[in-house]
Amino acid sequence: MADPDREDLEQHLQSFLDQSVGPYRSWHRVNRDMIANWCDAMGDQNPIYRDEDAARAQGFSGIAAPPSMLQVWTMRDYNGDYAPGSASENPFAILTFLDGEDFPSVVAVNYQQTYQRYLVEGDQIYHRSYIAEISPQKETGLGVGYFITEISTFFDQHDEKIGEMHFRLFKYRPHPQKEMGAGSSEAAGGLQQIKRFRPIENHDSEHYWQGLRDGKLLIQKCDTCSTLRHPPSPMCPSCQSMDWSCIESKGKGIVHSYVVMHHPPIPPFDYPNAIGLIDLEDGVRIISQIVGIKPNDIDIGMSVRMTIDEVEDELFQPLFRPV
Ligand code: ZN
Repeated sequence: MADPDREDLEQHLQSFLDQSVGPYRSWHRVNRDMIANWCDAMGDQNPIYRDEDAARAQGFSGIAAPPSMLQVWTMRDYNGDYAPGSASENPFAILTFLDGEDFPSVVAVNYQQTYQRYLVEGDQIYHRSYIAEISPQKETGLGVGYFITEISTFFDQHDEKIGEMHFRLFKYRPHPQKEMGAGSSEAAGGLQQIKRFRPIENHDSEHYWQGLRDGKLLIQKCDTCSTLRHPPSPMCPSCQSMDWSCIESKGKGIVHSYVVMHHPPIPPFDYPNAIGLIDLEDGVRIISQIVGIKPNDIDIGMSVRMTIDEVEDELFQPLFRPV
């Protein structure tokens, strides 16, 4: 390595590796109100998350929590504070350090959770974390920086491990031309040189993507209990049947919720980028871009209609526009 500054920097980065920090404790025990809010937002009707008798019938001691809520319990509050009894160290000190070294931008790259058991009402969770991996300096379409993997391990009130989270992000210095204000034509030109991630088409999802190429939004319907489901999956969440067929969506719905992405601009999308959670009249919920309207004019409850657009060569996606 010829650059002594970079050598110093990378040596310092290594000092962040394998330093376990924590515990970070939960503000609330696992509880049915937070579980209900989560399930409402996700559209998850599994009775073991809502009904105590149903949960007990499945062998749980109380209402169970969706495993994917793992990270929820020990999050900081709105003021950025961890719950009492938590460690005072900043688990993101490496990001603060890289900010000071002129790597100001960050983008999440990968997120993976594993679970040891279901959490149930009354469980009290804490987690510890450490930086497990720091890549050599990498040049990407976004800029120059480092891929950083943080591993958090979650425990219950008996100090038994209940789950683990691998979180990988890219902390980087953007290419100069990518720092133009959103909406400027030069910025858009720069961003659009990078193409969209192609979807993985496999046994469970190829019907969906083929349907879009044929101009249809296909929604899976259980052959046993007729429950509709989206996104595509191999098994009915209501009756566990593996037999399914499809209906064609009418493409009409309302905005259940939405977010507007401003920063950091992630190629190749236009910014600001409005992403909607759409309740389709057919009876399922779908995430997609809302187009043809200024983000400020989007309202929850607004009627929208789908078009299937070729957003890139041979890549068809359902987009939603106001009626
Ligand atoms: Zn079913």
